[in-house]
Amino acid sequence: MKVPFLDLKTQYNGIKDEIHSAINEVIENAAFAGGPFVARFEQEFASFCNCKHVVGVGNGTDALWLSLCALGIGQGAEVITVPNTFIATTEAISLTGAIPVFVDVDEKTNNMNPDLLEVAITKKTKAIIPVHLFGHSADMDPIMAIARKHGLYVIEDACQAHGSEYKGKKAGTIGATGCFSFYPGKNLGAYGEGGAIVTNDDALAENMKIFRDHGQAQKYYHGIIGWNARLDGIQGAVLNVKLKYLQAWNDARRKHAQDYTEGLSEVKEVVVPQEADYTRHVYHIYAIRVNDRNKLMAHLNEKGIACGIHYPVPVHLQDAYRFLKKGKGSFPVAEKCAEQYLSLPMFAELSDEQVAYVVEQIKEYYA
Ligand SMILES: *Cc1c(COP(=O)(O)O)cnc(C)c1O
Repeated sequence: MKVPFLDLKTQYNGIKDEIHSAINEVIENAAFAGGPFVARFEQEFASFCNCKHVVGVGNGTDALWLSLCALGIGQGAEVITVPNTFIATTEAISLTGAIPVFVDVDEKTNNMNPDLLEVAITKKTKAIIPVHLFGHSADMDPIMAIARKHGLYVIEDACQAHGSEYKGKKAGTIGATGCFSFYPGKNLGAYGEGGAIVTNDDALAENMKIFRDHGQAQKYYHGIIGWNARLDGIQGAVLNVKLKYLQAWNDARRKHAQDYTEGLSEVKEVVVPQEADYTRHVYHIYAIRVNDRNKLMAHLNEKGIACGIHYPVPVHLQDAYRFLKKGKGSFPVAEKCAEQYLSLPMFAELSDEQVAYVVEQIKEYYA
């Protein structure tokens, strides 16, 4: 049996007609850059997230960078985040001129450990970016409490957490802003690049809308130096079609995750992902932890099962961040995760047979 890691084609086949007519409508209206189809998606996504404003942008990295810029973060500032994330989180910090400062993650949830947060705060700290890794919300209450105490902004990296919840609130709606990516492989993926910022702050939303469009509130009158970070119309229309299915697709992911977890429960060599009682996990990634990751991965590949590693090198050990001088041993939990993580096939359209086959092959390997 073949089990791909991700299969966007099957999803497309199920919504083909709707997608084609949505794209055609954009072309007929020549509404390509920003415009009414983006505005409609922004409204729909705001209502999905139960928050006031959504600002569509070019991608998730833009969303993080614009958030930081709009909050006035730049040269001389420090921004706290975690080392086990996709590098976009720290790229956005670096692009503003600020310095990323890391805190290690919690062993159970693999998300920011709030107990380690306060000691990382200095006079230069301006913001905290928790990452809702793999679709599991970070523990926001203690993070928000520490941020309030020290007068810091919280920007949520929700790029892997569309529809995830923290104590009943949608991921991304608790901090000053929440940042989403609609990269094709995400739980809500565009047919190209896309991203969005969610916020309940009227002034911030207005500021970011102006910034993403060359600093103009009125065409060719530029109040600030902005950027081109617009979401394109075709992506807005595609996302509007797909948003209707997000809840059902996330439910399907949760069912597959439950089947994996139950199936692997007797395999003592495998640590399965946990779901803390404060979150609703949306399993963008289903990552197990094992000691012999590379060997198990080779075995599964041989059996026709594609896997992933998210991520093999934590950000502080990347060559690009060598200047921070945080060597091996600086963040032991994140480093252990990077060595042990193995991401199993995960997408809504997986069949029960495919999930059972993956479980069976892992069991066979350890038997
Ligand atoms: C995907 C992702 C991003 C960046 O999103 P792009 O749309 O690819 O720019 C940022 N942070 C995390 C955690 C991501 O997974």
